[in-house]
Amino acid sequence: MVFGDRSGQDAAPGGDIHPAIGKPRPYHRTRFVMGSSERRMCAASTNQSNISGSCLCGTVCFEINGSFDSFFLCRCSRCRKGSGTAHGANLFASGATLHWLAGEAEVKIFKLPGTRHQRSFCMECGSALPDVQMDGAMLQVPAGCLDGPIWIRPTAHICCASRADWDVALDEIIMMNGPPG
Ligand SMILES: [Zn+2]
Ligand SMILES: [Zn+2]
Repeated sequence: MVFGDRSGQDAAPGGDIHPAIGKPRPYHRTRFVMGSSERRMCAASTNQSNISGSCLCGTVCFEINGSFDSFFLCRCSRCRKGSGTAHGANLFASGATLHWLAGEAEVKIFKLPGTRHQRSFCMECGSALPDVQMDGAMLQVPAGCLDGPIWIRPTAHICCASRADWDVALDEIIMMNGPPG
């Protein structure tokens, strides 16, 4: 496994960057080509080269120009704590650009002390937001903050050795189209 968990606890052990962005080779397969018409609006986009997103409270709004290289569902402890759920769901783009359309001053960047792990979120509502990493070489985008459709599908589950003990056979439990009750 390219992204195997060698520590048995967390695939992004102390001081290292997130495993999904620590392997440069896979992220250079696709290069961004700017579309002929560039839109500037805070609304869902169907153009893969131009997609917008926002936080839950609507304070922060952004647009991404470019293509995503990969899409990982990561179960490492950092992603589980950062997302509050079973796994992070992050898109990665090596050639895309991020434009804040509103609320940039409300975006907080958290850097885990002693490591290169970091994530961005809205200071008002806590929603995960895009994060520029590796000195600008990589853009990490939480899939849940995007407002438009994306064409890339998850590339892989990674760091599965660090999954939560309740994260077992989730596809087999009952599924409801709405909330319970
Ligand atoms: Zn917000
Ligand atoms: Zn992770």
